[in-house]
Amino acid sequence: MSKRIYLASPHISDEGYEMQYIQEAFDTNWIAPLGKNVNEFENELAAKVGSKAAAALSSGTSAIHLALKAAGVEEGDIVFCQSLTFSATANPIIYQNAIPVFIDSDNKTWNMCPKALKEAFDKYPNVKAVLVVHLYGLSADIDKIVEICKKHNVPLIEDAAESLGTYYKGKHTGTFGDYGIFSFNGNKIITTSGGGMLVSDNEERIAKVRFWATQSRDQARHYQHSELGFNYRMSNVVAGIGRGQLKILNQRIEKKKYIFEFYKRELGQLEGVKFMPINEWNEPNYWLSCMILSGKVNPLDIMEALEKENIESRPIWKPMHMQPFFAKYDYIGGDVSEKLFENGVCLPSDTKMTDEDLTRVCEIIKGLWE
Ligand SMILES: *Cc1c(COP(=O)(O)O)cnc(C)c1O
Repeated sequence: MSKRIYLASPHISDEGYEMQYIQEAFDTNWIAPLGKNVNEFENELAAKVGSKAAAALSSGTSAIHLALKAAGVEEGDIVFCQSLTFSATANPIIYQNAIPVFIDSDNKTWNMCPKALKEAFDKYPNVKAVLVVHLYGLSADIDKIVEICKKHNVPLIEDAAESLGTYYKGKHTGTFGDYGIFSFNGNKIITTSGGGMLVSDNEERIAKVRFWATQSRDQARHYQHSELGFNYRMSNVVAGIGRGQLKILNQRIEKKKYIFEFYKRELGQLEGVKFMPINEWNEPNYWLSCMILSGKVNPLDIMEALEKENIESRPIWKPMHMQPFFAKYDYIGGDVSEKLFENGVCLPSDTKMTDEDLTRVCEIIKGLWE
């Protein structure tokens, strides 16, 4: 069997930065849920994306959960949520006993369609929050979405789990709304094995998030709780990995872009192939290289041909309004997200791939057109 090629897998720095920070935690016996690595990781990430404050949490999912709570979402509230995404975007709406209304994407960005969002506001003027996603490292048409949310005075949360290092008009995704979240799961552009971050310019709200995430312990000698608490903090060891990974984020983005351009050059001319849209105002992190097929070859043909050669690929996310668990909730829009799911494929975009690996993938795919 030839060497396995992954969609996206952890890639530790050549310099060993991660181990240096972990070693420091060990040397000081700081193997705890809090500590210097956690504080510094928060500061370094906030500085990197240009946010005033950040809270390091146990996952991207817990960051979305506490963002919803910080935005005031409670039982019975309506939340507009991009339909084309991973279920982790939508699940925390249910954790809060709130009600999702799913919104279609547009072909220009693959992310939330501003027109569908406007329609949703007409139908549900009492909505409590909007949850937009920046999929695959592409940014949503965020100016328009911010404008609509501002007009209605509704908080905006950006799920930037897949888009750390992505810019929209020179500003980082995750910093346009009231709250932004990032994920450091194993397949993301940088990883801590598992973890997340919530960023905001509202320092008071971030302090509150840290309070909730450490079991909502009131200021008292005894254990006193006047609010529901969570155990959602990132550990000091895990944060050490994050600090090391953050140092090489730009290298990873460069490689991801190289992979995307390699595929585009080699496969872009095939009949019925279109790559994910890169808008002039968008500088993506190219987390995954995705394409859409409209000719005789379909996504399943590609995924099966690659799997036979021990190469991982996968479909575009299946929209939430098509998921059995979420099907009962309302959906606003047309069939854009459905079509992207049906016709799209994510190509292996692992930063450890060599030119030989990339050529191997391209030759297998080109073979399907012969
Ligand atoms: C990975 C991901 C998440 C969840 O992050 P975790 O750290 O795995 O909890 C949320 N939203 C999107 C779009 C993701 O890709």
